[in-house]
Amino acid sequence: MFRLDQPIIITIDGPAGTGKSSVSRALAQRLGLDFLDTGAMYRAAAAIALDRGLSLSEHGLILDAVTDAEIGFDWSLDPPALLVFGDVMGDRIRKPEVTGVVSAIAGIRELRELMVVRQREIARKHPRLVTEGRDQGSVVFPDARVKFYLDASPEVRAERRARQLAELGQVVDVGALRREIMARDQSDMQRVDGPLVRPAGALLIDTSHHTREQVIEELEAQVRRLAAALS
Ligand code: C5P
Repeated sequence: MFRLDQPIIITIDGPAGTGKSSVSRALAQRLGLDFLDTGAMYRAAAAIALDRGLSLSEHGLILDAVTDAEIGFDWSLDPPALLVFGDVMGDRIRKPEVTGVVSAIAGIRELRELMVVRQREIARKHPRLVTEGRDQGSVVFPDARVKFYLDASPEVRAERRARQLAELGQVVDVGALRREIMARDQSDMQRVDGPLVRPAGALLIDTSHHTREQVIEELEAQVRRLAAALS
């Protein structure tokens, strides 16, 4: 059985541009749960590797640098702010140079192992959690009580990313974004460790023809329905 006022992990996985981060955060707020953006952790790792001038093949050095940086979050802020060496990293992690290498960095097995350990530690301290990423329901929290898999067509996802990036002041080419998103999907789905998959038991939500608000409503309704059915 599960109750929403007790420890509960809700995982939300899916490819880039499905609106995962934004709806996961809103769902957490509505249910009074904490919110973990695991993509931000991989993006921070990529930014650290870039800042150190490390090449993507220098796995050992990347791992050392990321371990030293003690990637974490300031949970007093909403959403929790990403911390690297104890400092807030900010929007740097959304920049194209970081997005361009993050999937390759996320393919490093030892780095994924480190992230999985960190994410489980976070869940021990924040046991009422909505966590979003690529491997949350499959690898990190396979026993989560509620799992979702969000998807949408590449065209819709590229349009959404374009709007998001425009809000951050970045100039975007939707066609190029669509190609970048599809390349990242391929890379995320084909890696050996923690590939992007629809986890066993995850409810598939196709967000292509729904507004953000409709998706949040749908997720909340599903969670409350499951809580009622299982309690
Ligand atoms: O969700 P976001 O687009 O910020 O994720 C950036 C990248 O981080 C993904 O493309 C993926 O390569 C990696 N990632 C991952 N596992 C997660 C979350 C993100 O490999 N749990």
